[in-house]
Amino acid sequence: MIELQKVCAGYEGRNVIRNINISFPKGKVTVLMGPNGCGKTTLLKAALGLISKSSGEILYDGTEIGSLSPRDIARKAAYLSQSRNIPHITAGKMVLHGRFPYLDYPRHYRKEDYDAVRAALTETDAIELMDCRMEQLSGGQRQKVYLAMALAQNTDTIFMDEPTTFLDVYHQLELMRLAKSLAAQGKAVVLVLHDLSMALKCADQAVVISDGELIKSGSPEEIFESGILNQVFSVKVYRADTENGWQYYCEPERQL
Ligand code: ADP
Repeated sequence: MIELQKVCAGYEGRNVIRNINISFPKGKVTVLMGPNGCGKTTLLKAALGLISKSSGEILYDGTEIGSLSPRDIARKAAYLSQSRNIPHITAGKMVLHGRFPYLDYPRHYRKEDYDAVRAALTETDAIELMDCRMEQLSGGQRQKVYLAMALAQNTDTIFMDEPTTFLDVYHQLELMRLAKSLAAQGKAVVLVLHDLSMALKCADQAVVISDGELIKSGSPEEIFESGILNQVFSVKVYRADTENGWQYYCEPERQL
C-alpha cells in the first residue's frame, strides 16, 4: 500500500500541497476531488516520486520512497497522466512501453510482454487498435491505449489523472466499471475526477482537497452528508432516487 504522512511538496521552493495524510488501500477505488489548481496532480506526482517532497514520508509497503529506484516505483505504481505526447508508433508498440520496468537495456521483449500487451488492450476494449498508428486514433481511442499501457505495467497501484477526458458518456461509464473491476482484482485505484456525481458513485474512499490541503476523506455518503462539496465547489449537491438506486447530481448556486 502507498501511504503519505504529513507530506508537503511543490515547485521551485513553494509548497503546493501541505501536510497531506492519506493512504491508497488495495482493493479500493480512491477518488480525489477538488477545484482546478488545488493540487491534485501535484499530490499524484509527489506520491509517484516525480517531484520531490519537501517534508513528510511517502511509504510503499512500508519502504520510504527515497530508497526506491524509479524502476522499483514503476513496478509498483502506474500513472496515467493528463498530458501525453503522441509518438509516431503503433498502439501495440505504445502499450509495450508499459513493460519497460521489467526489461533490461537493450530491450528484448519476451512472450510474456506481448501477452501482457494483448491482455491490457483487451481489458480496455481496444485490442482492434493494436496495429493502428497513434497519430491516426481519436482522442478517446488514444485514451484507451494509454490506459492499456498503464495496465501492462502490472502494478498494485494505478493513478489516473482525469482519465475520462476525451471519452463520451458511454466510455466514461465503461472506465468507471473498469476502475471498479481493477479494484475488485485487488489493485489500489486512484482517480482524479471532475464529475462529482461520477466520483461519488464510483469511490470507495472519497477525498476532498482544497487549496493544497486535504479537507475531508471518507465514504461518498459521509462526504455528501457533510456538505463539504457545496462549500468547496460553490454548488449544491443532491442525491436523487433512480430506478437502479440513487444518483448524485449538482446544481449551480445561482440559476444559469
Ligand atoms: P490540480 O491538479 O488540482 O488542478 P495542480 O496540482 O496541477 O492542480 O496545480 C496546483 C498548483 O501548482 C497550481 O497553482 C499550479 O499553477 C502549480 N503548478 C503546477 N505545476 C507546476 C510546475 N511544473 N511548476 C510550477 N508550478 C506548478
